Amino acid sequence: MTGGSGKEFSPTDPFRYCPADGTRLGETRASGGTTCPECGRSWYRNSAPTVGAAIVRDGKALVTVRGIEPEKGKVDVPGGFLEVGEHPVEGLRREIQEELGVEAEVEGNPVLLATHTYGEEGNWVLAIGFKVRIEGEPRPADDVAELRWISAGEVDELDFAWEHDRRFVREALRGDG
Ligand SMILES: [Zn+2]
Repeated sequence: MTGGSGKEFSPTDPFRYCPADGTRLGETRASGGTTCPECGRSWYRNSAPTVGAAIVRDGKALVTVRGIEPEKGKVDVPGGFLEVGEHPVEGLRREIQEELGVEAEVEGNPVLLATHTYGEEGNWVLAIGFKVRIEGEPRPADDVAELRWISAGEVDELDFAWEHDRRFVREALRGDG
């Protein structure tokens, strides 16, 4: 390793410096919060929320093959990270427009909640999955290598990037057959 600070910073280590003013933060409280002695703000490490879509049409589910790291080449579902302040339903509609180029109708209640790690450092993610209907023919964006419509019989043999998506897709196919 060259060029880096060389300091370990795991996905669950508390923040060391105030993101607002760069002051060295104090001791971590039992709650996980760390308060800045300069500005008084408290900082917490949290999972980053992501949203994913189960899209079923004519008995087949739409999955993507990842075109970028992490997990490049593995099977994923359409979706991505929420932006700050963004509602999960709005975020998923935005991601589907970006990744597939189509309008989406997202059901109001999530059908999947899962926590998992993401990337080499193992950053924590909170995954929220919805059933989604799309209009028209999807076409893959740059970060998607391929789109595939899969049947229930293919779910077990695919190389999913994250195991909870296998369950997510399987249950969606069962529901909409
Ligand atoms: Zn501060």
